[in-house]
Amino acid sequence: MPELPEVETIVRGLRPTLTGKTIERIRVLHRDVLRQPPRDFSARLRGRIFESVDRRGKNIVLHMTGGVVLVVNLGMTGRLVWARPEARTTHPAVRFTLNAGPALVYDDVRRFGRLEAMEEAEWALRDQRLGPEPLSSTFTARRLHADLSRSISPIRSWLLDQRRVAGVGNIYANEALHLAGIHPQRSPKSMTEGEARKLHRALRRTLRSAVENRGTTLRDYRDASGNPGENASRLRVYGRGQEPCLRCSTRICRLVFGNRAAFYCPRCQPFESGTTA
Ligand SMILES: [Zn+2]
Repeated sequence: MPELPEVETIVRGLRPTLTGKTIERIRVLHRDVLRQPPRDFSARLRGRIFESVDRRGKNIVLHMTGGVVLVVNLGMTGRLVWARPEARTTHPAVRFTLNAGPALVYDDVRRFGRLEAMEEAEWALRDQRLGPEPLSSTFTARRLHADLSRSISPIRSWLLDQRRVAGVGNIYANEALHLAGIHPQRSPKSMTEGEARKLHRALRRTLRSAVENRGTTLRDYRDASGNPGENASRLRVYGRGQEPCLRCSTRICRLVFGNRAAFYCPRCQPFESGTTA
C-alpha cells in the first residue's frame, strides 16, 4: 500500500507537467472508485485547471480552479500515471484527457482506491482530522511525546492511525520502530522522553531516505511515469521474517496483531524498555 514516500514520489512526478493543464474530458470506466456519482464527479472537474499538486498523508491533493479539490487515495494497488505505453496501465478506472500532452490515468487492479471531487471547505475539514505531517517542522519530538502519552494501543497500531501521524503505513512504521529500537507492541503511554525522541528521529530518517529512493515497490507501486521505486532493498525488517537482523544477526520475528504483520528484532527491540543491548 502506498505510504508517504510513494505518494510524495508520485506527486513530484506529476507536478511539473500537470500544473496549469485543463481537464477536457473525463471517462469513468469503473465507477466504484468514485465516492460520488460519475456525473457529479465529472461536472465538478470538467474544464478546471490544475493549480497545484500536493500530498497530505497518503492522499494526492489536486487543487483546481473554481475552488474544487480532487483528492486521490490510492488504496492498495492504485496508480496515478501518465497514459504512455511504458506506464503499462492494465486496469484503468478513470481517464482524464487534458488540453495538451498525455492523458492522466487512474489505474487500480483491486479498486480499493478512491477519488473524490469536493469544495475547498470540505477538504479543509478532512485535512484537520489528519495528524501532523511527520516531515514538517511542526512535528517535533516534544509534540510526539505528548501525543504518545495519551494512548495505550500498541505503538505500531498507533503509528498506522492517520489521525495521530499522517502518511505512515505498515512498512515505515515497522522500519522506524526497528531503527528506534522500540518493540512494536510497546504502549505509547509507557515511552520515555528519550524513546519518543529516538522514534521521532527514526521516523523522519526512514521516511526521508525512502523519498530519496523514490519509494518502496514490493509489487504494485509505480511512480507517475510507471517506474518502480528503489527502496525495497533498503528495508531492515519489513518482509524479512526469519532473516538475520542487519544490526545484530538475530532472526527477525514476524508477529500478527491488529490484522497486520509486524516485523522486529527481539534483541534490538526488547519489549521491556531500557533493556536494549
Ligand atoms: Zn537486531
